[in-house]
This record gives sequence, structure tokens and C-alpha cells, in this order.
Amino acid sequence: MWALSEVFTTEFLKYLVPAVVTVGAYYYLRSGNKAGSSDKTKAPRIVIPNKEEYNRKRKKIIAAGKDKLLVLTDFDQTLTRYWITKPDGSRERSSPTHGVLLSKEANMPASYKERTTALLNKYYPHEIDPNLPLEKKIPLMEAWWNGAHDLLIEYGATAEKIRLGVRGMKFKMREGASELLDTLKEMKVPAVIMSAGIGNVIVEILKMLNLYYPTNQTIVANMIQYSKDGTKIEGFSELIHTFNKHSRYAGTDFWHTHRNRRNIILLGDSAGDSQMADGLEFNEILKVAFLNVRIESRLPEFKKKYDVIILNDGNMEIVTDILREM
Ligand SMILES: [Mg+2]
Repeated sequence: MWALSEVFTTEFLKYLVPAVVTVGAYYYLRSGNKAGSSDKTKAPRIVIPNKEEYNRKRKKIIAAGKDKLLVLTDFDQTLTRYWITKPDGSRERSSPTHGVLLSKEANMPASYKERTTALLNKYYPHEIDPNLPLEKKIPLMEAWWNGAHDLLIEYGATAEKIRLGVRGMKFKMREGASELLDTLKEMKVPAVIMSAGIGNVIVEILKMLNLYYPTNQTIVANMIQYSKDGTKIEGFSELIHTFNKHSRYAGTDFWHTHRNRRNIILLGDSAGDSQMADGLEFNEILKVAFLNVRIESRLPEFKKKYDVIILNDGNMEIVTDILREM
């Protein structure tokens, strides 16, 4: 008989350990799929926590019409998708605006990517942790955003690099999002795009897709302030992170101009987004969320904060249908 010590030689363990990990990961993902908890893309699904309330709000907003309406929407992973499919069929995250310089076209040194990724790995788990209280999250988010913006300065993110980066950025608009922006423009409904991302990138993306409509769009985000020739970052607008998005950033003039539009459709993909209209006087508000990762653990919180939750990168139909009925 072999003694155990003879069986589990270092050489043997070298093969055993990866095999156990691989098989374990496979079963973990499978069991997750069965329970519907895996992050693997499943068929889109819509959750409406209170159907009666949802229908009441929907009817009220439609009856009041487009002249009373205002749309307040997040950008990253709301107007854009969470996942994109690579040519080989596997998935990757659709790049958020802060990832603009990670695209090849921006031609940044490898250390920029490493340091940006290190920030993401450090802080993102805190952002989506449903058990971490808000007052503990906020300083962590500030540290993350400031760290990311410092890197933009340190690595010389010129306006030209941002423009080139957007051209190569791996992202995709959510199905129906372009139609939504087109329809809002045609109906002359103000759309506030309120993002904790980089505003200059949002403008560049919308321009590239022919969806930039300054007539009805107001972009409230972290704007890089450049020197006149666009080669030097002189500063940033007031910091907006996931948990301090607030209507006041659109400015009192904006809200005064649109003082008669107090039916709001709010679109977001984080718990924090649901508070974008806090402090605003409104007549009615319909809150729509897109939830794509850690669905099971986050759904209870989303059900408290949103009227509709669209799972697994579903489309914008629920919103465009409302506009169509106006
Ligand atoms: Mg978002």
C-alpha cells in the first residue's frame, strides 16, 4: 500500500489542485444557473414589485402627456449594456466611460491599465455590497473617483486621446436606447443624462453615434476641464460618484426653466441611481432599473427602490412604449 504522503507528492498536487478548482468552478456556475443567480446572461426578465402602483403611475404619466414629462437617466450600463459578446461568443463588460483610455487607440502605457484595474478591483466590490452602509461607501467612492481622475492627469489624458479612446472603446448601447434618445428629441422632452462617469466621453460617444442633441439633452457628469488647446487637464467639475448623484447638479436655472415638467421617468442601474431625483418637487415619478450582476443578492433592495427592474440586459421597450402612448 502507498502511504498518503507518497500519493500526494508535489508533482501530483500540481495537477490535482487546478483540476479541483476547474471542476468546482464548473459546478458552481451550473448550480448558479439553475438557481438563476449566476452572472451568465439569461433571458431578459422584468420584475414589477407592485403592479397596481406601477400601472397607476404609468397611466398618470401618459395622461399628463409629453409636455409634463422629463427623463432623468444614468449613462453607463443604463443607456449602454452591461455585457457585450466577443466574436468568439464569450462575454466581456461593456466599457464604462471611465474605461475610455483602456482602448488600444488611446495608446496608453501598460501601467495605466494596471493601476486603473487595481482601483476597480479594490473599490467595485464595496460599491455593490448591499451590506455596507452608505456612510461607509461614500468615502470609498470618493477615493476611487479621485484616484481615477488623478491617473488621467498623471498620464496626460488629452482631449485628443479621449476622442481616439472613444473610437476604440468596447461598448454597446442598450437595445432601444438610441430610439429612446431620438424619440425624446422629436417629442422635445428634456433628457438629463446624469452620470458618475466622464462627461466629455459621453458627449464624444453621443456625437459618434449621431445621438448628441443639445436642444433637449443636459449632461451632468464629471467634466474634464481642459486648457484652451486641449492638451492639459486643468481640473474637474464637482465630483459626482455613484452615491451623490443629485438633481441639484443640473442647476437651479435648469429646474426653473422646466418647472412645469414634474412627471419624471428615472432610469438607472444602481441603488444610488434611484435617488437622483431626491429633493426635487415632482408630481409623479416612475423608476426603472437595469440589474445585471449579483441579481439575487441585490434584487430585494432594488425592489424597494424601483417600480420596474429589468434583468439580464433587457431592452428599453418598457420606456419607449410609454412615450409611444403619449
Ligand atoms: Mg450606471
